[in-house]
Amino acid sequence: MTAPTHTPSSHTPTMPTSAGGTLHEPVIDWFDAHARDLPWRRPEAGSWGVMVSEFMLQQTPVNRVLPVYEQWLARWPRPADLAKEAPGEAVRAWGRLGYPRRALRLHGAAVAITERHGGDVPTEHAQLLALPGIGEYTAAAVASFAYGQRHAVLDTNVRRVLSRAVTGVQYPPNATTAAERRLARELLPDDERTASRWAAATMELGALVCTAKNETCQRCPIAAQCAWRLAGKPAHDGPARRGQTYAGTDRQVRGKLLAVLREALAPVPQAVLDRVWDEPVQRARALDGLVSDGLVEPLPGGLYRLPLT
Ligand code: SF4
Repeated sequence: MTAPTHTPSSHTPTMPTSAGGTLHEPVIDWFDAHARDLPWRRPEAGSWGVMVSEFMLQQTPVNRVLPVYEQWLARWPRPADLAKEAPGEAVRAWGRLGYPRRALRLHGAAVAITERHGGDVPTEHAQLLALPGIGEYTAAAVASFAYGQRHAVLDTNVRRVLSRAVTGVQYPPNATTAAERRLARELLPDDERTASRWAAATMELGALVCTAKNETCQRCPIAAQCAWRLAGKPAHDGPARRGQTYAGTDRQVRGKLLAVLREALAPVPQAVLDRVWDEPVQRARALDGLVSDGLVEPLPGGLYRLPLT
């Protein structure tokens, strides 16, 4: 088991000379002093703990992830433990984290790790990327945080920090662009260990200081060189930012349907599911979506359950 490398500790004294050279030292020093003590950053988390956390954290805040993460790792301490279970058990344990397809994808990755890699999370970025359900972000994050490798890890927090500090605009584009990827690669410290710490440190800076709603520049270690701040914080003039509306959406209906199925010990009749939402067209659309996503299994006789296979 390899210890994650993004715990706060002293970093290599020799700062690299890449494009972000003047940013690296203050951001990593700030991280050493201020990083939160989170379970997936502790050595005992190992590469599987890092992978589980990355799946959970992609669209869910830390405080909601923490209890589910702890229960998940206690129940399935290795990929093979999860791989033995029905995928529906992963959906059940996912609880209310939202975007439950992530639970199925994590289960699928655990099966592939068990079958192809003897139960150990692979160390190579290409092998990680080849696992089902793992995209560029997760492969880079696991390679960087679990194995201390040099990869551009571009989540929403990092993208926001780079867009402000370096590009000089308040918000990054709605979807990650090739220009952002290029910039993130150019800014990577040259040596592996510093690069992995830089990745974790920029992510933490975006989560704690340079947040979407309320940047606290007086606490920011790179305020003196932040392009957006130095330009007088010009207002966002790009495309409208995506909202996070939940109430009344199909996502909300899906969440209510899944909540019933998670609690059920036996297959659930359609009539019970019908009680969760009054509007029949939207309710049917949400249920159809869950079935086609593989999150719910329809059975003969109008019964439904979480998937067994
Ligand atoms: S100075 Fe302010 S806007 Fe710039 S990176 Fe720091 S917190 Fe963000």
